[in-house]
Amino acid sequence: MEVVLAQKFGFCAGVRVADKLVRQAAAKGLSGAILGQVVHNESVEAEMARMGFPTVHELEEARKHDGRIVFSAHGVAPSVRDEAKSLGLATIDTTCKFVTDIHKEISRSLSAGAFIAILGQQNHREVIGYTHDLDPSRYRIFYELAEVKEFDWESHPKVKIIFQTTINAEHFSEHVAEIRGRVPEAQIADTICYATKENQDALRELCVDPAIDAIVVIGGRFSKNTKELALIAGEFKRTFLVGTAAELTAEQFAGMKKVGVSAGASTPDYDIEAVVETLRGF
Ligand code: SF4
Repeated sequence: MEVVLAQKFGFCAGVRVADKLVRQAAAKGLSGAILGQVVHNESVEAEMARMGFPTVHELEEARKHDGRIVFSAHGVAPSVRDEAKSLGLATIDTTCKFVTDIHKEISRSLSAGAFIAILGQQNHREVIGYTHDLDPSRYRIFYELAEVKEFDWESHPKVKIIFQTTINAEHFSEHVAEIRGRVPEAQIADTICYATKENQDALRELCVDPAIDAIVVIGGRFSKNTKELALIAGEFKRTFLVGTAAELTAEQFAGMKKVGVSAGASTPDYDIEAVVETLRGF
């Protein structure tokens, strides 16, 4: 079976930096705890734990891990940084530069009197980082179009629209049109990450090849951008979303001659290589 990779897939710049910073610390003999997955990928999480950086969900737990906490590429709210300081924890901050820019954009827009409309997922750590410290009357997170339609926009004459970095812009174009139709002064901050978009565009290009029988998308269970890739592929081809090569079986690909492969921005190269090798073996 022929296996073709998308022109662009896998680790983005932000995740590479996060991965590198933790590895560098481990190489120096340091240990610590990572607040939430350093990136949304189970293989990376397990590897980091083996290197002395397990995932924890409360800052306090870092005390048992050399008093050192790692902030993930998704970033955290300013109050979390303050709390780490007050607990006397050393920090390794791997927040992606694009996420930091969005924190700044939100802060500027609020100072300018705007209401913040965030298009994204309420429970995503990146979005929690943006909103945790904000006055609830100054922002709202929207995911479904119906939520946008039902919202009382008339009370908010000045609006700044912010996107979670890893969403698919096309799924939210109607949301944007609705807000702009109701709030003439609504402004958009183009905050969708280029890395996510590049992986999505490359996958679409791959999907138009009529000879491709199916697409395999590789990524973590909690990776939003990986799920978006699977949704895009599913519009064109039979799609398999897997975390690792171990989830693949030869029966799934019986009779297929050509398979396309893509991977989310937090999927490590070794998982991608293993999937490609397994598929070629079929
Ligand atoms: S997907 Fe984009 S925003 Fe998210 S970590 Fe990667 S480079 Fe940063």
